[in-house]
Amino acid sequence: MADKKGKLVLIVGPSGSGKGTIIKNLKDRHPDWIYPVSWTTRAVRPGEVEGQVYHFVSKEEFEKGMADGQFLEHAIVHEKGYYGTDKSEIVAGVNAGKTVVREVDIQGFHSIKKAFADGFDGLDASHLLTIFVEAKDLEELQRRIAERGKLPDEEVARRMESARKEIAQADECDYRILNEYGKIQETVDEVDGIILKS
Ligand code: 5GP
Repeated sequence: MADKKGKLVLIVGPSGSGKGTIIKNLKDRHPDWIYPVSWTTRAVRPGEVEGQVYHFVSKEEFEKGMADGQFLEHAIVHEKGYYGTDKSEIVAGVNAGKTVVREVDIQGFHSIKKAFADGFDGLDASHLLTIFVEAKDLEELQRRIAERGKLPDEEVARRMESARKEIAQADECDYRILNEYGKIQETVDEVDGIILKS
């Protein structure tokens, strides 16, 4: 990279493809990287801790954040709730030369790609790296989604519908990788390698 700035790495891919697990592993390997906390209005799941991956906020708080320009992008995901990436944490991290890693859905990917392509706050497309993570096939994905959260059938169906749409756009990311069942360390090695060489 020509300048001393870092980069924002977006991990994209359908629900159940393993984005969260990949990021958890990257956190262990690279505690010096920045893992910004997004805001969401969805309910807290068992085991989730406020401020680790998400700030869990009310719709009113989220809408205030939108009005205040808090977000780099925001979207309604799986028709369930708002999700938004914290702009200041990302911009400060990249401008300070850091590697910043965040997962977003495909809408967030498109919004952020456009923002970087247009340029803002001294950042441009050279400061963005996008990696699409996928499972072997839709059956595998459905199994992982159903296993993970004991979600109601209609929620699983909604996530599968989103997955089909997301997979159709995978080639718009810089890299596309397969997260094979039972091979998480190999997948993390691959993601880590891509980030380090970019
Ligand atoms: P979950 O509710 O299962 O944690 O996440 C649902 C979806 O929202 C996943 O595809 C996840 O990548 C996406 N997501 C998480 N944080 C953000 C964010 O800040 N912005 C957007 N657009 N999507 C997000």
